[in-house]
Amino acid sequence: MRNVLITGGAGFIGANFTHYLSRTKPELRLCVVDALTYAGNIKSLESLIDAGRIAFFKGDICDQAFIERILRDQKIDTVVHFAAESHVDRSIRAPDIFLQTNIFGTQTLLKIAYKVWIQDGLCPEHRFHHISTDEVFGDLSLTDPPFTEETQYQPNSPYAASKAASDHLVRAYHKTFGLKVTTSNCSNNYGPYHFPEKLIPLCITNILRGLPLPVYGDGLNVRDWLHVEDHCRAIDLVLERGVVGETYNVGGNSEMNNITLVTTLCEKMDAVFAGNRGLAASYPECPPAKGKSCADLIHYVDDRLGHDRRYAILADKIRNELGFEPTLQLDQGLDLTIQWYLDHPEWWEPLLA
Ligand code: NAD
Repeated sequence: MRNVLITGGAGFIGANFTHYLSRTKPELRLCVVDALTYAGNIKSLESLIDAGRIAFFKGDICDQAFIERILRDQKIDTVVHFAAESHVDRSIRAPDIFLQTNIFGTQTLLKIAYKVWIQDGLCPEHRFHHISTDEVFGDLSLTDPPFTEETQYQPNSPYAASKAASDHLVRAYHKTFGLKVTTSNCSNNYGPYHFPEKLIPLCITNILRGLPLPVYGDGLNVRDWLHVEDHCRAIDLVLERGVVGETYNVGGNSEMNNITLVTTLCEKMDAVFAGNRGLAASYPECPPAKGKSCADLIHYVDDRLGHDRRYAILADKIRNELGFEPTLQLDQGLDLTIQWYLDHPEWWEPLLA
């Protein structure tokens, strides 16, 4: 691994991973490709671009000529593929772009990587790492055992179906063409640079602005939560020590239902405001600034169509084979995330203007 291409590096996990690699592996040359859709934010990478630490290329992963030029010109030997449409609600309202980016975009990257690295013989020692999700495995009841790498794919949303298709393409390029691939399927991430349409940043930013906190259905849908920094470390381990052709489940050992999560965030925000009287002046609409509780903002809404009840990950393989354990507990990770949003209004406020 010398010249790394990170796709979707201006998005949530991609930006965190770009910062992570920049910090932990100064010997690597880092290139980022991102189309800067609504979910991509160049500000997340600004410090790295200004420092000359990364080369940023704005463009679409579906554009074959663009991708081929970067692979050749930058002598890329490793692709870490994050770029995707990632929001389930949007995939229900408008699925087409999910198929285009997640399936055709992944196919384009695989095809060009095969052409440049193998057919043209430019990089026999390469790696294509594909970032996927636990949502490809479908729905669990509250008592079902968690997903393993052997669990049958049963995607239920257009988002999950498009990610499942991309996972299959990655596997096919390994089996058919010998491309050196790995895939990781991860549970819900949270942390810095997270676009405020997803549950945790939505709650934090809505609480600060005194806006309702929408909770789907009965609020009892369960997700497993992993701090993005732990996810970045897991991806790095798979890149360094993962076996080509294998898939790895990554989880946080932190299952929680949505209403408990939202209530926890409310309690934490109440406590943060109680401990820092100055915040009330900055966020006058926030309930504690008016002597109220953040939980007053909780508001149940109609359930999401096809809403999976529970996702859970058994992460034995990555623990036993690669030694990966999450280090941040959810409680501590939420505290850090709240603090990050308090410290960086210049990042999230313009997105909500
Ligand atoms: P995100 O929506 O925050 O970021 C996606 C990035 O991809 C954006 O910067 C966007 O501009 C870019 N992009 C979209 N279409 C593009 C295109 N055609 N060409 C180039 N760039 C394009 O997503 P995220 O939450 O950071 O997720 C990253 C990856 O991780 C996705 O593949 C997602 O399926 C997967 N994943 C996410 C989670 C999670 O909890 N967020 C969990 C498991 C897996």
